[in-house]
Amino acid sequence: MKKSLYVSAMALSIFAAANSLPAAAQSAFDQKFVNYPTYSGDDLELSVNDNGTQFRLWSPAAQQAVVLIYENGHSGDAIENIKMTFDAPTGTWIASSPEKLYGKYYTFRVLQDGKWLDETPGVWAKAVGVNGKRAAIIDMAQTNPAGWNADKGPEVKNFSDVIVYEMHHRDMSMHPSSGIANKGKFLALTEPFTVSPQGLSTGIDHLKELGVTHVHILPSYDYNSVDEANPQFNQYNWGYDPLNYNAPEGSYSTNANDPKARIIEMKEMVKALHDAGIGVIMDVVYNHTAENDGSNFELTAPGYYHRHWDNGNYSDASGCGNETASERQQMRDYIVNSVKYWADEYHIDGFRFDLMAIHDVDTMNEVASELKKINPSIFVYGEGWTAGDSPLAPERRALKENVSKMTDIAVFSDDIRDAVKGHYTNAADRGFATGKPGQEETVKIGIVAATAHPQVDYSKGNNSKFPYASSPEMIVNYVSCHDDLMLTDKLRKSMPEESDSVRQAAAKLAQTIIFTSQGTPFMFAGEEIFRDKQGVHNSYKSPDSINAIDWNLKAKNLDLFNYYKGLIALRKAHPAFRMTSAKDIAKNLVFDKIDSKKTPNLISYSLKNNANGDEWKEIKVVFNGADHAQSVNIAKGDWKIVAIDGKISPEADLGATNGGKMTLAPYSALILAKTK
Ligand code: CA
Repeated sequence: MKKSLYVSAMALSIFAAANSLPAAAQSAFDQKFVNYPTYSGDDLELSVNDNGTQFRLWSPAAQQAVVLIYENGHSGDAIENIKMTFDAPTGTWIASSPEKLYGKYYTFRVLQDGKWLDETPGVWAKAVGVNGKRAAIIDMAQTNPAGWNADKGPEVKNFSDVIVYEMHHRDMSMHPSSGIANKGKFLALTEPFTVSPQGLSTGIDHLKELGVTHVHILPSYDYNSVDEANPQFNQYNWGYDPLNYNAPEGSYSTNANDPKARIIEMKEMVKALHDAGIGVIMDVVYNHTAENDGSNFELTAPGYYHRHWDNGNYSDASGCGNETASERQQMRDYIVNSVKYWADEYHIDGFRFDLMAIHDVDTMNEVASELKKINPSIFVYGEGWTAGDSPLAPERRALKENVSKMTDIAVFSDDIRDAVKGHYTNAADRGFATGKPGQEETVKIGIVAATAHPQVDYSKGNNSKFPYASSPEMIVNYVSCHDDLMLTDKLRKSMPEESDSVRQAAAKLAQTIIFTSQGTPFMFAGEEIFRDKQGVHNSYKSPDSINAIDWNLKAKNLDLFNYYKGLIALRKAHPAFRMTSAKDIAKNLVFDKIDSKKTPNLISYSLKNNANGDEWKEIKVVFNGADHAQSVNIAKGDWKIVAIDGKISPEADLGATNGGKMTLAPYSALILAKTK
């Protein structure tokens, strides 16, 4: 959730020096964990079968362990206290009951270094009571909606075909204008035919109308900050404070006291989206835990799952108090098995890794390869940076600069993000699309998806100095997301003298750059109707009055919505925007020579040779990010107009031209096509 260029920039200087892999443990303090026995069976913590109920807790250094059984998910004394026995070769503690304990709850307690630690539901609770303090024993077979066995997400041939829409459950549905009954709940996205007061579609129908291929939902596993027992208080949180990684968040269910309800309802949401042809990507935050000593990791196997400095203090590359240790076998297995579980049990179609560079390259490669075995359409991407220094050596981190060491993993391009709309740390800063000169080369880095290209000079890049992606499928392009000022707010802060209509012209230009660039485009929910967050850049716990999308804006800004819709339809219809290899891009994407010193904020390029099997022979794409009109010379030919002056037509029916001098309005894109 937080971001830092510092670690990315620092990594560059360390790259050259790094020539040998460091030891498995990164600090002297962590050395003792290297030889812990590990266990990755799928019966960790709980299994129920014809022999009854079995518990198996991984805790290699414990002196004793017990499992406590409860009638209730959050109150009352234990009805049973079962002593566990140690299986030294696997480092696990085992106990069992001859009965199937469906309907009951459990916690573990561990004695280590002579001290009984607090109760914990463990790290593998797949169902939990209210607020996630106790694990629930339920029959998962009873949580599947009708038709679940046949449920399947969209097939993805290439990851550059994916169009990501990032959303928070409450943002989409809480506003009275959403017309949605189950406000703030998983079920909100199962409601068809919901409309705004002006009769325009909202919710899932809006997503279908817009044409995105995948929704990326902000954390939907059980997180810590919202009190699930008091939904009437309408608390809001993004959810980057993980509690139970393998159970859904209770505040998004209609009844957090019923452990099955949140599971059933999340699956119903997934199924409704799948039925609409839309994939579901989960935002996962394995990089840190909400609490340090009080986290479920610490209460089951103290020290093991987190990294520390030599002095034993928690290291904090997350900026949230701690960071996890993916390089240790049991933690690596945990991450891999957890995403596999979500893919298998919930049919999840993709994972967005928060602060992915806290994890090591090998873990991320294992994540992608294991998920591919379940479903080759699963898309994995993440933030290729950390939010602070880490004991993990930079060459091992899943940094964006290391993305070419990873297969089937993509990273966010902060290059295109900051170059197009201005730097994220400075609200007033403008970018290429809002009139700031000198950003042209960095925008080009984005256009070619950070791949090697004969006409792109990486030495002039703002954030990156070398072509770090060996394939366009490694790059996610965006101008805004839940973090920092979202697009509308950024435009208002950086263009204070302008009107919203001028800002919307800039918004159209910025997104035209994103949606025509190579790589995978990504957008933030509501920017297509010019929603804002009242200038709040870090709205992680702001009220719904800041975060909820006001659907009245759809009628007000229908022209902008239709432009986004047109952009998405254009991209989907034309594989030239979705090339799959760096070689193809270097060959088929040709920039026109423009002296950016003389005419800044002007980029023009062609996609040639029916690129990537496109039916159009050549596509000309021109961006004018200046506050005044600028002209370009278009080669003579039989061109049809696809986009001009803030209008777009995927069918290329905005007129025709034979080339020559063409003038672009301020803050606008021109797209032409030689259709044969
Ligand atoms: Ca929770």
